[in-house]
Amino acid sequence: MDFQEIWGQEQVVQYLRSSLEKERLAPSLILHGPEGVGKTFLALLLARNLICARGNGQACGNCSGCRKIDPPNSHHPDLRRIHPTGREIRIQQIRDLVREIQVRPLEGRRKVFLIEPADRLTTEASNALLKTLEEPPSRGAILLITPNYHSLLPTVRSRCQALRLQPLAADLVARFLITAQNLPEADAELIASITEGRIARAATFDFPRFHKRRKRLLNLLADLQGRRYGAAVLRNAEQMANSAEDLVEELDTLLLLFRDIARLVYSPGEAPIANRDLREELLKLAERFSHRAYQMVERIEETRRDLQKNVNRYLATQVLLFDLAGAGHAGDPGSGPLRRRVALPGHP
Ligand SMILES: [Zn+2]
Repeated sequence: MDFQEIWGQEQVVQYLRSSLEKERLAPSLILHGPEGVGKTFLALLLARNLICARGNGQACGNCSGCRKIDPPNSHHPDLRRIHPTGREIRIQQIRDLVREIQVRPLEGRRKVFLIEPADRLTTEASNALLKTLEEPPSRGAILLITPNYHSLLPTVRSRCQALRLQPLAADLVARFLITAQNLPEADAELIASITEGRIARAATFDFPRFHKRRKRLLNLLADLQGRRYGAAVLRNAEQMANSAEDLVEELDTLLLLFRDIARLVYSPGEAPIANRDLREELLKLAERFSHRAYQMVERIEETRRDLQKNVNRYLATQVLLFDLAGAGHAGDPGSGPLRRRVALPGHP
């Protein structure tokens, strides 16, 4: 296995290949780019190239060391992966790194430290890392992985070589799913468009689960149109807000639907949409929500942001669902709530 398993990042891969060949790769690297484009996978392949004791700047792919770093289950004594404990990567974890990187590698050519996500480094931890980033021992390497390049301290950024991974064109992701995962073409194209070119997300996408959730949300939108929408709001808000993690997924899917609905409002004929298989159904919703579909996209985004600020997720979901009911009824006075809102602090 080699960098050829990396899809659609030609520039980055070419840079890595040639610097490994010339043995001139910067020892401290930042791999950044949106969530789900394959940063971790690339970092592990790179670690393999750095660690393999048989290859000459390139992993042989066959030795026991190489096999131990086969993504995604990579366990090698010279590969250390540092993740947050709790919400942060703490100074003690970095002090351990600073000490361990000085020790000779046990089996490989180099000792590699993966810090992920590096934007969780506390300021103290970042500061403790600076000297080692600048001058790591010749047999050490540090790879920082993050979706938020600019949330790293400038002093960290200036000591590393940064490589940015891009989202892929949807047709490339679809081709990957067809060839590497044997998916049927229609499913592959749909997943590619839903995951917006983030190949790592596409590779682990739980399609049946997504299907089920999307179907339930469409049923919910139908229920919100009925006369008993109030009961539907309460019941669904409770279900959706049951766990914080699920709620984020629910809102992401709802957002995906409403972005499509909003696109279809203004160009029902040819607008490219993510949920391609639902075009007919979404066109009907576009008629129902009309220009208010855009407001709903904003409301869903706003709710997602609110949730990060620790608002009561049940109440926040309830308010959002009442708004959706109101927006869907607006052209149909007499049957709906007409933007009636529940009273909630911060939501006058
Ligand atoms: Zn090897």
